[in-house]
Amino acid sequence: MDHFTYRNGALCAEDVAIADIAKVVGTPFYCYSQATIERHYRVFKEALSGLDATVCFSVKSNGNLAVLRTLANLGAGADVVSGGELARALAAGMLPERIVFSGVGKTEVEIEQALVANIRSINAESEPELAAIDAVAKRLGKRAQVMLRINPDVDAHTHAKITTGLNENKFGIEWTSAHQVILRARALAHVQIVGLAVHIGSQMTDLAPFREAFIRVRDLVAMLRADGIAITHLDLGGGLGVPYDGSETPPPADYGRIVKETVGDLGCRLAFEPGRVIVGNAGILVTKVTYMKDGATRRFVIVDAAMNDLLRPALYDARHAIVPVSATNEAPEVVDVVGPVCETGDTFATQLSLAPVKAGDYLAIRTAGAYGSVMASTYNSRDLIPEVLVRGHEFAIVRRRMGLQAFLDYEQFPAWLGGTTEQRS
Ligand SMILES: *Cc1c(COP(=O)(O)O)cnc(C)c1O
Repeated sequence: MDHFTYRNGALCAEDVAIADIAKVVGTPFYCYSQATIERHYRVFKEALSGLDATVCFSVKSNGNLAVLRTLANLGAGADVVSGGELARALAAGMLPERIVFSGVGKTEVEIEQALVANIRSINAESEPELAAIDAVAKRLGKRAQVMLRINPDVDAHTHAKITTGLNENKFGIEWTSAHQVILRARALAHVQIVGLAVHIGSQMTDLAPFREAFIRVRDLVAMLRADGIAITHLDLGGGLGVPYDGSETPPPADYGRIVKETVGDLGCRLAFEPGRVIVGNAGILVTKVTYMKDGATRRFVIVDAAMNDLLRPALYDARHAIVPVSATNEAPEVVDVVGPVCETGDTFATQLSLAPVKAGDYLAIRTAGAYGSVMASTYNSRDLIPEVLVRGHEFAIVRRRMGLQAFLDYEQFPAWLGGTTEQRS
């Protein structure tokens, strides 16, 4: 369910016509629907009713400050994976006690940032990291609240690049050694292990791997408690998939039922780290047709958005639905939708059935709210594009177009090439 619908043939975000935004903002741009974000958050939260659950939105899926504030206003916290994301979550108004920090390579600077901010938990992923957390906490005169991320060795049945819970993946501590690691961590005076964390992958459309992973978590909690180790917190990660191509995905309520059946009676405070399921179909990428080109065997729609704006097709072979911003009744034709970047991977759709379009027409690439703008780059010296948030009949630019001059300004010539600016060592 989302709030991108046609009214009299015009694609709208809530009550605003996309074409009207495009005329003001210029293309390409990302457009988010606040009502859709809010709806998905509520549905997810509702699925966990009866549990002591905090929803820590995965900032890496969409870090826009306005999106984060929308969620903070509903009571959400954040799952961050870098110091930059932590700064964003705090700037958006998320409460430190609702922020968890994941990732295999937290630096000392990031650990210090987390401890100074007093976040809910650092989710540690290795023994060297536990030692680093202990050292930083000691220097600051603090005791760090830590959850240990375990790797349950469960296959998430998703794309290889976003599978994280197999023992060949770099994430977490092998679940069979977690017990020993926690016993050894008792020697660290400035670390308090309060719980376990798990996140096995993303874009999961099958719930069975969640159940398997949560059962392993549950078994581990039982073993630890039998050894007198208090486990009061669990972080069950994110990973619920969204329908990119209109296919069925499991409802959050079914996911909630699995949570309740597996770990619901452990008396733990629970955290969840959904990203994609909250913002995925709350965003679209709006682009304009630059040229129509008839190749030897294909008809190409060349658009002004590219892989640097939305990397998912090139990186994950993702196929996003693409729809015209002005609907027509004309018979569709089969086309390839491609961007201008000099890479064959810069292809949004192949052999797509699309109503006839011509240069100047707008298209919407759907389900682009998660892992869209956050993965953008300036490859081919292309600008970072604007992000727009719609609420009802209003819209606002929530990130400006960067402007090409801005990134020229970041570069300078050394003296031996005629530079005049002061050189830094
Ligand atoms: C990426 C990530 C998430 C979010 O995953 P989604 O599939 O977007 O829900 C949650 N937790 C961790 C640790 C992650 O790395």
